[in-house]
Amino acid sequence: MERRDLLIIGGGPAGAATAIRAARGGATVRLFEKGEKGRDKVCGDGLTPRAVAALDELDVDLTDAHRIAGLRMIAGRTQRELPWPDNGRFAPHGAVWPRRRLDERLISLAGEAGAELEFNADAVPILDNGRVVGVEANGRRWRSDLVVVATGAPGNVARMLGAERDPDEPFGLAIRTYAASPRHADTHLEACLTLRDEHGTPVPGYGWMFPAGDGTVNIGVGALSTMKGFKKLNLNKLQASYRSLVEESWGLGPDLERPRAWRLPMSTLKRHGPGWVAIGDAAGLVNPMNGEGIDYGLESGMLAADLFLSDPGTTPDTYDRLIGQRFDSFLRTGRRFSFLIGHPWILRSGLRLAVGTQGIANITLQVMGNLVDDQTPGAAGRVLRIADKTLAVADPILRRTRAAA
Ligand SMILES: Cc1cc2nc3c(=O)[nH]c(=O)nc-3n(C[C@H](O)[C@H](O)[C@H](O)COP(=O)(O)OP(=O)(O)OC[C@H]3O[C@@H](n4cnc5c(N)ncnc54)[C@H](O)[C@@H]3O)c2cc1C
Repeated sequence: MERRDLLIIGGGPAGAATAIRAARGGATVRLFEKGEKGRDKVCGDGLTPRAVAALDELDVDLTDAHRIAGLRMIAGRTQRELPWPDNGRFAPHGAVWPRRRLDERLISLAGEAGAELEFNADAVPILDNGRVVGVEANGRRWRSDLVVVATGAPGNVARMLGAERDPDEPFGLAIRTYAASPRHADTHLEACLTLRDEHGTPVPGYGWMFPAGDGTVNIGVGALSTMKGFKKLNLNKLQASYRSLVEESWGLGPDLERPRAWRLPMSTLKRHGPGWVAIGDAAGLVNPMNGEGIDYGLESGMLAADLFLSDPGTTPDTYDRLIGQRFDSFLRTGRRFSFLIGHPWILRSGLRLAVGTQGIANITLQVMGNLVDDQTPGAAGRVLRIADKTLAVADPILRRTRAAA
């Protein structure tokens, strides 16, 4: 078996961020990606100010991305256009960067930093007495001090490690395609919060138009598993009905590719163990209130690399603790919230409230932008802390009365 300091399975933003950071810090790194070089990932391509801040931290040049000034929220006939808040903690702007180009850029930076990259490599961890000691891919075995699982929505690697999605927690599904639009260079993301399925049932989720600045817009819809009838929800029909709502105002051309759907994991049974840590989607780090996870993937990837560089032996436990401090309470609140909005009548009145006044819409914006957590000062942070406490008390009722069927 050949040896490297760090082995990474998965070459999305999370895995690439770990590789960049660890290789720049002097570790020998090998990253395995099962797709080919330049593979695409089904995504809305939206980068929150939090994601932009993480990319800045990695010294990624954003000239190729389309700069975004804020969010236009639409609920029924109400529209609010809000700039991203500049609270000094994250970047004052967001971006749209089609994943084929963003991921290619990040993986190239990992290579430039000295990480070895192996594409078309469906990798699995090597277990020895319950400890992950390396990786096997393409018939070769590699040993390392730590294996970083950056495999995205759970598959067979997660199954081997007991790191699957918690079956009692909500998750999401989303679908997207691209179309040409004269408004491709708009400076605002657009989110329509009042989606209905083909039976007229309100869907907890949203439809988006994310202008990519390259002649095209990313158009998609996402839904939470907490709604009644989720198992029968037809995403293609939901996408088509959303498209018909925005077609005229965006001057949309035909779909440039067949709409493709993918999963949004929002929990995990385990995110570390002896010899390994999971990051990004593999660790269930997706915001249940907006389905976004690129920022969390980049942050968790950098954190794993930093801990590894300072002490590989303690990395799994320390990583789990620090990730828990940074994300657990917010994500737990988000999951409870998604049970709540699974009820159509709560969703309807909640949405009226969410965009009803400028002040509350601003808080909604911060939640939609992954900008709120325990440390957020001001009204948004206060609202989150109150929601956290209230929803914690209501948790057993929320689960008992969940709308899903
Ligand atoms: C339709 C849709 C729209 C979305 N829109 C947004 C958005 O606008 N903004 C946002 O922030 N987030 C969005 N998300 C979520 C976002 O796509 C994910 O949070 C993000 O991709 C997570 O990055 P990651 O690196 O953890 O995983 P991924 O990007 O999924 O990367 C995982 C990689 O691991 C590889 N892999 C898996 N198994 C193996 C294996 N055994 N061996 C080798 N390689 C393996 C895969 O091929 C893949 O390349 C959206 C998701 C969906 C489905």
